[in-house]
Amino acid sequence: MRAYLDNHATTPIDPRVLEAMQVAFSQHFGNPSSSNHAWGWAAQELVTIATEQIAKAFNCKNSEIIFTSGATESINLALRGLLKNNKNNSQIICSAIEHKVTFDVLKYLVSEGVQHKVIPVSRIGMLDLEQFEKELKNFPTFMTSIIAANNEIGCIQDLKAISALCHRYRTLLHLDMSQAVGRMPINLKDIGCDLATFSAHKAYGPKGVGCLYIKESLKDTFQGLIVGTGQQEQLRSGTLNVPGIVGMGKAFDLACFEREEIVLHCNSLRNTLLKCLLTEIPELIINTSLEQSICGNLNISLPNISAAKLISKLAGKVAISSSSACLNIQGHSSHVLKAIGLNQEQVDSTIRIGIGRFNSEDEILFAAKSIINAVFDRP
Ligand code: PLP
Repeated sequence: MRAYLDNHATTPIDPRVLEAMQVAFSQHFGNPSSSNHAWGWAAQELVTIATEQIAKAFNCKNSEIIFTSGATESINLALRGLLKNNKNNSQIICSAIEHKVTFDVLKYLVSEGVQHKVIPVSRIGMLDLEQFEKELKNFPTFMTSIIAANNEIGCIQDLKAISALCHRYRTLLHLDMSQAVGRMPINLKDIGCDLATFSAHKAYGPKGVGCLYIKESLKDTFQGLIVGTGQQEQLRSGTLNVPGIVGMGKAFDLACFEREEIVLHCNSLRNTLLKCLLTEIPELIINTSLEQSICGNLNISLPNISAAKLISKLAGKVAISSSSACLNIQGHSSHVLKAIGLNQEQVDSTIRIGIGRFNSEDEILFAAKSIINAVFDRP
């Protein structure tokens, strides 16, 4: 048996998503920009259906969805697309636990003269709202970018409170929703954000496709990053990835309408796993807030155990990680764990487990046994 428990890095594709995509690969392979023949019309029709599915899932207008290659591109577009409006060169705010992509884009913007501030978080990763308000009150702020659901410790921010402060102090709000889809309810109009980033492969859809929600009233002043033939109202040039978009539409549709079932399943498996681990390793420290986190997330520190060694011992049979996949490839240790107050020793003994909708109870019991055996050096 093997168990894939790294569903925050990526998720397996839902067979229903794959089936929907096949039509776009084979039957309706046209270019949606070919408005002069039936092949183009059929492809455009698929894109329209997917757009409607996404808009319905998140409560926004079809025209507010711009397709991208994934969350990395969406975050770039969100943070850089409106910069020319920032005439006063006022600051951009983010939390201390953003995804590395956001920090990298901000680093780039700082080199272009933009200022940015980082707001601390609590032990469970919640944004310090008092500090946030103080910052908004004292310094003109152009935009705030917040990770709605964290990819390491799973915490879900108080989005309505953050949005209310952004409205009060007239700052734009961008939310990184990459980990949120199918794991928490998402109603963009209700939250009241201006921009939101999504990625298909975190929600049982294909890799290499995502989208950015841009509030209608902002679109006129938005500037695309890719120079080209002007698809998607000049906001993102390039031929649309029709199979990817179809897959994302189907994946987000399923994630939205089956969310409650997914949450129950993933949290029940997470509780089973935690119970098994606590029986043998009672000293483990739970970094995930079990009440305020996305389903299936379990981030734990195992005192005196090297997470790197544990992960490599398990690598062939149980997939877990120490932090995000992006940090792994760059050899960085987790800024998220440091931001919630862990010292380096604790960071080095921390593992991230991401349980997904396709995991079974048998896999969880197998993973628990494998982790315990690896911790105690049993065969
Ligand atoms: N933001 C968050 C919260 C993520 O978890 C990820 C994926 O690791 C990204 C952004 C980047 O996503 P993508 O792989 O779609 O570029």
